[in-house]
Amino acid sequence: QERGQGGPPGSGKGTQSPIIKDEYCLCHLATGDMLRAAVAAKTPLGIKAKEAMDNGQLVSDDLVVGIIDEALKKPSCQKGFILDGFPRTVVQAQKLDEMLEKRGVKVDKVLNFAIDDAILEERITGRWIHPSSGRSYHSKFAPPKVPGIDDVTGEPLIQRKDDTAAVLKSRLEAFHKQTEPVIDYYSHKNIVANLHADKPPQEVTAEVQKVLS
Ligand code: ADP
Ligand code: ADP
Ligand code: ADP
Repeated sequence: QERGQGGPPGSGKGTQSPIIKDEYCLCHLATGDMLRAAVAAKTPLGIKAKEAMDNGQLVSDDLVVGIIDEALKKPSCQKGFILDGFPRTVVQAQKLDEMLEKRGVKVDKVLNFAIDDAILEERITGRWIHPSSGRSYHSKFAPPKVPGIDDVTGEPLIQRKDDTAAVLKSRLEAFHKQTEPVIDYYSHKNIVANLHADKPPQEVTAEVQKVLS
């Protein structure tokens, strides 16, 4: 049970992942969350990744492939995993296949969160996250019970530095140029499910469940 989730920034990957994770007891690996943690902790990895992230560009393939290779060794990832925001380039997809081959497993499903760019600015600029868990809220579409506070822990929420209209533009350029070809890579393997990610969250969840059942 190895799933990958693709889709542009703001398409709802992070919102749906915990639901899939809980339902199927998979381990959830989100490269964006792991990179943000490394940046906050000022680790060597974080220091190398920060500039690209701030500018809405992709971090180098070697860095993110290294993170995933490490993370897949965790005991909790041995029964299956969901990759959120990885692979984002064809090179990453090829390296992932190599890593999985060594472990005797393969990607069995890819969920493509299809959505028009026009919808994403409002989603991105209204996003609030709980950094340590990766939980996301939206000021209009999914407000926390108390503004600026995580429902579960009571800790403060933050807005991501790259969640501005200007940086979103670069992120979408990177998405169309470097990440969309990844969908073609998996289409040839006949494992891509296209979701209508522009619907309300519950309806997207229902589509996810249908695809995985
Ligand atoms: P979003 O949720 O908006 O799609 P992420 O949190 O997944 O964004 O990623 C934030 C940033 O982290 C990206 O803009 C990029 O700089 C970096 N990043 C995350 N995953 C990858 C990846 N697989 N390859 C390269 N860079 C990545
Ligand atoms: P991604 O991980 O793909 O970048 P998120 O799951 O973080 O996207 O969603 C981006 C923003 O849009 C968040 O603020 C989230 O609360 C909100 N959101 C997620 N799914 C939906 C949806 N189906 N309809 C409206 N808003 C949504
Ligand atoms: P349908 O499933 O009804 O054929 P799609 O899900 O393919 O429709 O696409 C719905 C809309 O989202 C279209 O306008 C399409 O251009 C856009 N779209 C499709 N795939 C992506 C993608 N990976 N990223 C951004 N937009 C996409």
